[in-house]
Amino acid sequence: MPILRVALPVPLRQHFDYQMETDENISVSIGSRVLVPFGKRQLVGVVWQIDPADSFADAQLKPVTQLLDPVPVLGSILRDLLSFAADYYHHPLGDVLTSALPALLREGRLLTQEKQKLLQLTAEGQACSDTLFKRSAKQLALWLQLKQTALAEAEAVSEFSRATLQQLIDKGIAELISQPFTPFEYQPEKQKPLPLNPAQALSVTAVVQALGRFERFLLEGVTGSGKTEVYLQAIQPVLAKGQQVLVLVPEIGLTPQTLARFEKRFAVPMLTWHSNMTDHERLRCWQRSQSGDAAIVIGTRSALFLPFRNLGLLIIDEEHDQSLKQQDGFRYHARDLAVKRASLEQCPILLGSATPSLESLYNVQQQKFIHLQLPERATSQQVPKIELLDLKQQVLKNGLADGTLAQIRQTLKRGQQVMLFLNRRGFAPALICHECGWLTECLHCSAFTTYHKQSRQLICHHCAATRPVPHQCGNCGSTQLAPVGQGTEQLEEQLARLIPEFPITRLDRDSTRRKGSLEAHLDMIHSGTPQLIIGTQMLAKGHHFPAVSLVVVVDVDGALYSSDFRASEQLAQLLTQVSGRAGRGDVAGKVLLQTHYPGHPLLQDVIQNGYHSFARSALLERQQTRLPPYQHMAMFRAEALDSAVCELWLTLLQQHTAQQAQLAPLQWLGPVKAPLEKKAGKFRWQLQLFSPDRKALHQLLASLIQLIQGSALSRKLKWQLDVDPLDLS
Ligand code: ADP
Ligand code: ZN
Ligand code: ZN
Repeated sequence: MPILRVALPVPLRQHFDYQMETDENISVSIGSRVLVPFGKRQLVGVVWQIDPADSFADAQLKPVTQLLDPVPVLGSILRDLLSFAADYYHHPLGDVLTSALPALLREGRLLTQEKQKLLQLTAEGQACSDTLFKRSAKQLALWLQLKQTALAEAEAVSEFSRATLQQLIDKGIAELISQPFTPFEYQPEKQKPLPLNPAQALSVTAVVQALGRFERFLLEGVTGSGKTEVYLQAIQPVLAKGQQVLVLVPEIGLTPQTLARFEKRFAVPMLTWHSNMTDHERLRCWQRSQSGDAAIVIGTRSALFLPFRNLGLLIIDEEHDQSLKQQDGFRYHARDLAVKRASLEQCPILLGSATPSLESLYNVQQQKFIHLQLPERATSQQVPKIELLDLKQQVLKNGLADGTLAQIRQTLKRGQQVMLFLNRRGFAPALICHECGWLTECLHCSAFTTYHKQSRQLICHHCAATRPVPHQCGNCGSTQLAPVGQGTEQLEEQLARLIPEFPITRLDRDSTRRKGSLEAHLDMIHSGTPQLIIGTQMLAKGHHFPAVSLVVVVDVDGALYSSDFRASEQLAQLLTQVSGRAGRGDVAGKVLLQTHYPGHPLLQDVIQNGYHSFARSALLERQQTRLPPYQHMAMFRAEALDSAVCELWLTLLQQHTAQQAQLAPLQWLGPVKAPLEKKAGKFRWQLQLFSPDRKALHQLLASLIQLIQGSALSRKLKWQLDVDPLDLS
């Protein structure tokens, strides 16, 4: 009996062996799911390897309870990708699998090979005459419809009724037949492509010439330069060959607007994949991708793990976006794994952004990525002018300088829209006691709690702890509590008072929480009515707001001085992206940055020379300070109720690292307390590890994990390993 090595969804870094009773007359293949006993439970796992029988081992191995898939759910490409990911991120394979399989498959749901049921006329139904339906107008209508074309069962039920359907079936006039999943059939585009400008044409040609082999492209195009049109025209020949396309977008980038642009162009099945789907929808999307029925899938990061029958092109829009990296559990970066996937699929991958990550620009320098550039806007619109507004010695009205307010009013009066960007939701970052200076802090984190006025709550944005607003100071009992600082909710309230003649639309996580509210807000903006649009970084992503001609960045100072080495890159990206929202219509755009530090070199560089220039000097700086991408980085985090336990445990790791550093190029930083020292009641520490040699770093990580597994102290805390960390908080 062959030995099955099974990957199980448990946080252990190993396979588990089972035997398969061969007399069942079924053959098991690698990549199929099996139900197996595990302790007292039954778990669904995936066969990862099949080894020949070994009579000694056989006697001890438990048999598989049930084989769930006659054909593998995970093909060899996905298995290779997942194995690679588990190795690279040093994460248990079982847990990696959890990211790749829809919940229903993890629970053991059997897959049907049926896409849908189709209602069609029987031979009798084709031949009969309408006199048969004299007494039922509904049946007549359905029959007439079916004479034209067969209908999906669900469609027939919703247009007519289940009862009408059944009556035709009972009469022998119609029948339900099952329709299997089949690869999509190419249909020519519904909408003519735009004539490309030379830069766009070069980009499209480069990608199209690479179809059928692995190649990496970075498309760096200023905002409004027509990157989407490049994607669309690179996609078309892939579809024409009957191949599928995967487009990854940031979480909030999956706007109705983006989808509409794809839908208008192509006449092939297009699916979306995002966090707001039911388990059933996920499974369907998964099956439609696997069967080749889905021609285009547009999705957020985990769409990367969808199976494809024949993937021809991978696109990542806004490749610099942080949401492509998973920030908990299995901390993978979808961009990096997508590149791996493209190499396994032997297809090109196109990364696009107006503000590419320094990692990708570095890869261009290293000649790993081919650089495609769109240096100008696709239409005659100018890239907006950025002006610095010095806040020093200004009287601020509600966080806005007089000059700013005047420009806002002017713009609105001209019938245009104004966007105000403030990257802090809620009403105020804290409440302060006017008498003694006490500030509302989270009881569980080393952070202040944000005051949300509309819901009358204090909410911690780190642990989500929520409590009612106190009536009195927690220190002196005074009732004089006042908000300090400014959030989007407050800005909205104040502007409603200052400029009551114009409507305000607020876009942040609070105002878009209800299903459909984001769409409603976007519709309001797209109506074109002059209005104030207030929002957080949600505004910065990929939107096309033609009526916005003035963008105000209310506060950049907080981000100028940060301990995180990526802060300047992120600020430059944010400023450029936010600015890119201005002047996309007929009027030229303008951006106002309010700051106390107008002379700051970063602001000057971005404003005078653009992101492109900033990025090059930032890369030079990273090289000099020996930071990623010039070094590979990983970080261990420890969390415990007892701060000393974290420090002690990380010291063990650091000592081991120091030993290894005698043999290999390794550096470390820490153990140190995390910038957010305490979160949800637990103290947090970190140890950062660096090496110019990826292999050396990964060998170190593997030996550290062994050390961790052998140390009793590891059970006294929660730890995480983050490879290529982005979040250092
Ligand atoms: P990006 O994705 O780079 O921000 P978009 O693809 O949204 O840019 O394009 C910005 C605008 O330019 C859109 O209105 C688009 O229709 C238009 N556009 C793009 N390419 C062309 C072209 N070749 N000719 C004319 N207009 C174009
Ligand atoms: Zn007080
Ligand atoms: Zn908290």
